[in-house]
Amino acid sequence: MAPSSTHTEITTIVENEEDYPKLVAPQAAPRKYDIVYFNLLTFGYAHLITLYGMYLAWTTATWKTLIFNHIIFMLAAVGVTAGAHRLWTHRAYKAKMPLQIILMVMNTLAFQNTAIHWVREHRMHHR
Ligand SMILES: [Zn+2]
Repeated sequence: MAPSSTHTEITTIVENEEDYPKLVAPQAAPRKYDIVYFNLLTFGYAHLITLYGMYLAWTTATWKTLIFNHIIFMLAAVGVTAGAHRLWTHRAYKAKMPLQIILMVMNTLAFQNTAIHWVREHRMHHR
C-alpha cells in the first residue's frame, strides 16, 4: 500500500469522528477539582530548590556532592517504587518490619508526602 493511500485513510477516519457519539464510562461522575495548597507549596518549593541545586551542580558542587546526590536520588526512587507503590499501594509482595522501615525512610527522601498520603492518592489514581 502506498503511503499516500494510508494518509487518505487516516484523514477519512478523522473527518468522520464527529459522526460518532462521545463515549463516557457509565460509572464516571463529573470531576471536582480542588487545589491542594499543601502540595502546591511543598512541590513548588521542591522544584525551586531543584533549580538552585542544578545551578550549584554546574557551578560550585564537587564530584563527591554529585555522587552523594545520585545515591540519594536512587534510594528515593527505590523507596517510592518498591515501597509506596509496589509494597503498600498494590501489595505486590510482603516485607518484614525492618525492610518496611528502610523503605519508609527511603520514601521520605523523595519528598513526595508521607507514604500514607502517597498510597491513598495512588489508589485513587487507579480507580
Ligand atoms: Zn500503581
